[in-house]
Amino acid sequence: MASIRDPGSSLDALLDRNVAWAQAKRRDDPTYFERMAGPQSPRYLWIGCSDSRVTANDVLDLDPGQVFVHRNIANVAHTSDMNLLAVLEYAVAVLKVEHVIVCGYGCGGIERALGDERTALVDYWLQPIVMLYRKHRALFDGLPDALARLNRMCEINIEMQVRRVAATPIVENAWVAGRRLQVHGWIYGTEDGLLRDLGPTLASLEERDALPSIDERVQHPVEPRSSLRRHAIEAFAAPRD
Ligand SMILES: [Zn+2]
Repeated sequence: MASIRDPGSSLDALLDRNVAWAQAKRRDDPTYFERMAGPQSPRYLWIGCSDSRVTANDVLDLDPGQVFVHRNIANVAHTSDMNLLAVLEYAVAVLKVEHVIVCGYGCGGIERALGDERTALVDYWLQPIVMLYRKHRALFDGLPDALARLNRMCEINIEMQVRRVAATPIVENAWVAGRRLQVHGWIYGTEDGLLRDLGPTLASLEERDALPSIDERVQHPVEPRSSLRRHAIEAFAAPRD
């Protein structure tokens, strides 16, 4: 199995790499840092997992300046999390992003929520997922194997977090003001690097309020749009210029 490119354990090596990177950037694109020193105007807010393997700019193939990012373990939107709320408010009210993307995948955080160990702070963090699992344990445990359970919980978690983001007054106020703002639920395939639009995609209070509850969603799974292997990027209604 190929290993991840290892910069070694020395911090000096990291600083050396930084110098080489900045020089290469300047050589390939002489005005790069001039542009980056200007104001940012990203069109997207990405809410993803802290996992070191999935970085928004890389998987979206976007340059710095094009996507505003919030990450935490298992991409959870706690509606009392000042960090998330401040990022969301700044992105929506100041940067005026048009798309909020909650993106997840079957990661260690979700795996942990499906287990029995409850000994660390992360278990408090994962509580909404844990409780959902315990409430519907028979359904989840009835799935064919651990991978199916992990994938299903990953999808449900994304759906739950999209609902929570859409329930914040920040998003509500933008919609009430007639702002064009979509909240998306996406899933990332670690096995092929592809993003898929899992849904729901919400653009109004009416759409949000018409959604079935997350419990209903667990009990009556619908075929996710991800199974169509539709690339998530196609979900954007606006042209990407
Ligand atoms: Zn994760």
